[in-house]
Amino acid sequence: MPELPEVEVCRLGITPHIINQTVTDVVVRNGKLRWPIPDDVKLLVSQQVLAINRRSKYLMLRFDTGTLLLHLGMSGTIRIIDAETPVAKHDHFDLVFNNQKALRLNDPRRFGAVLWLAEHQDEQGFLAKLGPEPLSDDFSYGYLFAKAKKRTVPIKIFLMNNQVVVGVGNIYANEALFKAGILPTTKAGSLSKKRFDQLGSLSKKRFDQLTDIIKEVLAAAIKQGGTTLKDFTQPDGRPGYFVQELMVYGRAGEKCLVCKSELEEIRQAGRSSVFCPQCQKA
Ligand SMILES: [Zn+2]
Repeated sequence: MPELPEVEVCRLGITPHIINQTVTDVVVRNGKLRWPIPDDVKLLVSQQVLAINRRSKYLMLRFDTGTLLLHLGMSGTIRIIDAETPVAKHDHFDLVFNNQKALRLNDPRRFGAVLWLAEHQDEQGFLAKLGPEPLSDDFSYGYLFAKAKKRTVPIKIFLMNNQVVVGVGNIYANEALFKAGILPTTKAGSLSKKRFDQLGSLSKKRFDQLTDIIKEVLAAAIKQGGTTLKDFTQPDGRPGYFVQELMVYGRAGEKCLVCKSELEEIRQAGRSSVFCPQCQKA
């Protein structure tokens, strides 16, 4: 599943090809994605792409009259191709530009989305409920500390909640908690409330580290993706997904890369949590 780093790498990869280009055609081959593709997207013809932003895992193409939101869901990929490139299976949506290029969305499982938000509509809607971007200054120790107060939910579930912070998916929650030395089952509030009173600086330090570590883990993944995925224009490629060097995720039963203990696995909210019983503490 594409996570925030893949979406950000995709944004960086497609931007030079479509920024300031004008839409000449909108092709919906199968509009039955996670939500139906709205007819409004047809109104994009003759409009210019003013900016390509990202919020959480949504790509946001800004136009004069509003914003086109693209989400890759479980299995989606976006490529920039010559507009004449033959259509393949699961190529559900094209945005064709006056430079003879097309942005093409392929999504076998169709959990992705193409949505239209008219001007000023987006801030009122579901995007407004999202927590801060993890790489922004809004995601700080002070913010996380305040947000975690009195929360009994496990820290891993807490971090994966989009209303706390966006874009910390399962892989990155696992990796960040390992690097911070925090067990995924630790109650979120225990890092701030009781422990803070008793241990003061230790608790603060861990939380402080945790926000920094989350930023580091995501930034490293974006950097790695940027170097391994130079080309978003391969018609038969699978851009947007990249293999990363991971410390714990997907390594249950293998040895900890730091202390050689056997990594353990539990399920939390149906998702795999892998941790080192030695390196990580509650
Ligand atoms: Zn270890």
